[in-house]
Amino acid sequence: MSRSVLVTGGNRGIGLAIARAFADAGDKVAYTYRSGEPPQALAELGCLAVKCDITDSEQVEQAYKEIEEKHGPVEVLVANAGITRDQLLMRMSEEDFSAVLDTNLTGTFRVVKRANRGMLRARRGRVVLISSVIGLLGQAGQANYAASKAGLVGFARSLARELGSRNITFNVVAPGFVDTDMTRELSEEQRKGIVEQVPLKRYAQPEEVASAVRFLASDDAAYITGAVIPVDGGLGMGH
Ligand code: NDP
Repeated sequence: MSRSVLVTGGNRGIGLAIARAFADAGDKVAYTYRSGEPPQALAELGCLAVKCDITDSEQVEQAYKEIEEKHGPVEVLVANAGITRDQLLMRMSEEDFSAVLDTNLTGTFRVVKRANRGMLRARRGRVVLISSVIGLLGQAGQANYAASKAGLVGFARSLARELGSRNITFNVVAPGFVDTDMTRELSEEQRKGIVEQVPLKRYAQPEEVASAVRFLASDDAAYITGAVIPVDGGLGMGH
């Protein structure tokens, strides 16, 4: 059955791999992009590109209107869009802290809340939030990012309780280090240091995160809610 799927931040990195995985499986995929041009690869798969900055409620509302018109109400939401603004606490401005929280946590609140309108009506839905191993382990220089990603776990688990009776599941995927623009910003030395700590001794490919997301949205995961699934090569073992 072809479902209406929305992936935020689907124009590159992990979001692009997630959008592609759902489209390959035959779902009707819409994805948001904030800047630049939508990727040709997704256009060829028939995905719907919707321009939307998730820090702006009005843009979120417009995006949903467009998706509902073209694909019907969103049945599977993957809240993936996120940013980093790394800085040690002493040098971290309130703006750096707020911007990360406003995108990663409040932005997720905005898109989840709007998706729930249709899911409640349908009495079914799947929501997957992309957190991070950093939200569970913490990381020097990433207090804002870690706080936002840890917040997603409490958010998802609260909603799993609140809306479980409506047959809507809320799960979290916590990737470790994935080979995308976000981690390409790190120095070669930092990248080497990270790989040494990962039991599987390599970065994840975005497709490996997409597989876990697809599983959580599939019928096979119908009885899984409030879970945090690590895709981290063993980095956060035991978190
Ligand atoms: P990228 O930096 O490659 O892509 C981030 C995506 O989020 C882009 O599509 C970007 O849009 C979008 N985005 C950022 N801010 C906004 C906004 N305000 N409104 C709408 N879209 C926005 O990141 P990754 O693919 O690496 O990361 C995807 C998710 O996975 C993030 O939530 C990240 O925190 C998480 N993650 C990543 C890990 C990694 O190692 N890479 C590890 C663990 C978690 P635009 O192109 O316009 O900037």
